[in-house]
Amino acid sequence: MKEQLLDRFLRYVKIDTQSDENSGTNPSTDKQFDLARLLVSELEELGLDSVELDGRGYVYARLDSNLQKDQAIRKASGPGPIPKLGFIAHLDTSPSASGKDVNPKIIRNYPGGDIRLNGTVSILEKENRHLKDSLGHTLITTDGTTLLGADDKAGIAIIMTALHYLQTHPEIPRPHIRVGFTPDEEIGKGALHFDLERFDADFAYTVDGGPAGEINNETFCADSAVISIQGKNIHPGEAHGVMVNALKIAADIVAALPGDMAPETTKDKAPFIHPYFMEGSVGTAVVKFLLRAFDIQTLEKQKALLEDIILRVQDRYPGSRIDLEISKTYRNMHGALQQVPHVSAYLEEAVRRTGLVPKWVAVRGGTDGSGLTAMGLPCPNIFTGGHNYHGQTEWVSLDIMEKSVETLVHLVQICLE
Ligand SMILES: [Zn+2]
Repeated sequence: MKEQLLDRFLRYVKIDTQSDENSGTNPSTDKQFDLARLLVSELEELGLDSVELDGRGYVYARLDSNLQKDQAIRKASGPGPIPKLGFIAHLDTSPSASGKDVNPKIIRNYPGGDIRLNGTVSILEKENRHLKDSLGHTLITTDGTTLLGADDKAGIAIIMTALHYLQTHPEIPRPHIRVGFTPDEEIGKGALHFDLERFDADFAYTVDGGPAGEINNETFCADSAVISIQGKNIHPGEAHGVMVNALKIAADIVAALPGDMAPETTKDKAPFIHPYFMEGSVGTAVVKFLLRAFDIQTLEKQKALLEDIILRVQDRYPGSRIDLEISKTYRNMHGALQQVPHVSAYLEEAVRRTGLVPKWVAVRGGTDGSGLTAMGLPCPNIFTGGHNYHGQTEWVSLDIMEKSVETLVHLVQICLE
């Protein structure tokens, strides 16, 4: 199974599928279709039904139950219809690092220590606490010039390998299985055009997580904020009393943010406001922010904080105009998942059966599951064994990917028990 998993993974990461948040198209980049088309042909080869790629880059497929229709499902709650279980992963890689010409390096039987990727980039043991849990594993890294794309091609390879396993083990009773591969997760649009009716699952799991045994049913609540600043430009020689410099206003706004509410100064369940883009000249400037918190009330407070900063800064720059626009990105899925506790319970038990210790971790980010859960499809997240996503030091343990495949195969059985 390990070699098949490795083969698939290497095949998928070599296809550039970087998404682009500045694109207005769906999917945001055409090249995501390259991987989508390959997966369609592989799903067909695996013998799945209703394999479809839609015009927006979503791949859907089905593997129907091998139980007889009239066979009663013995569940703790008594007989019921055959469940419809979904698995989801995303096609795209992050815009924050190149995904072109990925040249994966394979380290078999990792002996410990730092991993040198090239002359300047290394994966350091002291910055990667999970390396010491990976002794003897097969690790896959980059050559230090691109991201790896384990986020989320590890998830795709895990799902495809689990499907192959189920197809070659028809003696394992299974529910109806639904598969979905989404574009543009990294730019927050993976759930946007997901066709729930076509997918047709009762509940699903994204395979888009991190370290061994970590599972997620809690994510940030996320909004984005754009502050647009109108200054007044004039020749500097005649500027006295007239010029209003939008760049200085932008700088003052960023400087007024609380230092203890930044991504670089917070962890666990602490919220942050993150200015991530700034552009402008004397006349106009734009600053973009991510607002992140685990509950809506805190998100509202962050919005109020920005409004307050704007009022204070505007006071110092008469004649300026500062506009704030907030847009909703995704919401914490925890509340909705608490309404269907069996969905998380199945997952916890499936991880336990692989021999790993299940560990619920609140994601300091979002997944497709955040959006899908809000749309009515309960959707926790499963580890892949990947680390340092979105950068050149990304790495993944093939041994943990294999544990993730096992988790999916256990899930298939547990939901029928
Ligand atoms: Zn991901």
